[in-house]
Amino acid sequence: MIVAIDGPAGSGKGTVTKLISQRMELINLDTGATYRCVAVSVLDNNLKVEEEDKIAALLDDIKIEFKKEDEKDKVFLNDVDVTERIRSKEVSKIVSFVSGITEVRLHMADLQRKMAEGKDVIMEGRDIGTYVFPNADVKIYLDADVTVRAKRRYKENLEKGIDMTYEEVLDNIVKRDENDKNKKLGALKKADDAVFIDTTDMTIEEVADKIEYIIKEKIK
Ligand code: C5P
Repeated sequence: MIVAIDGPAGSGKGTVTKLISQRMELINLDTGATYRCVAVSVLDNNLKVEEEDKIAALLDDIKIEFKKEDEKDKVFLNDVDVTERIRSKEVSKIVSFVSGITEVRLHMADLQRKMAEGKDVIMEGRDIGTYVFPNADVKIYLDADVTVRAKRRYKENLEKGIDMTYEEVLDNIVKRDENDKNKKLGALKKADDAVFIDTTDMTIEEVADKIEYIIKEKIK
């Protein structure tokens, strides 16, 4: 079974996906993390986001793994734990440019499909219901008012010790939204058959309950 949860930054998809994966024993695949790993590689190789050919040439040497260690979800890039680094300001600044490179998207979508092979998964991203798994069993599109999304992300960053002001977070989200919606391939948009949920005035539990209900109705 494939459950696709798409939506912009701060819409609640990461938290809600984690919660539902625990409640319903689905494997949680955070596709944004795969693009963030490529962005780390771009920084480590001192490349600029405009150097698309050089970035594309890195892809075959990038190994990304999601592992559970001490009950925590960890992300490894070429055997190095990058769980915290992929959320850094530097990575957030360039990731939507990096993910806009067609070669990167084709490669990552391929990887995401392989990661899901033969498993029951809940995948969060921007283009899961439209491009990666257009035949997903359940499709959800989450969105919320942009200032509410920025406040959520700002609070999350504070808890993680990521040093960004509220204005920086808001600016980053607005720019990424704009970039993500205008991608040539796999742009951020609701699939026609996705259920739209506005999470502006909802708690995470309320959103999770609603999605859990939709999934259960589907597999009844
Ligand atoms: O979800 P997250 O904020 O971690 O995603 C980081 C970036 O990765 C997004 O801004 C977007 O540019 C890109 N992304 C994407 N397609 C996905 C998931 C994320 O282009 N399925």
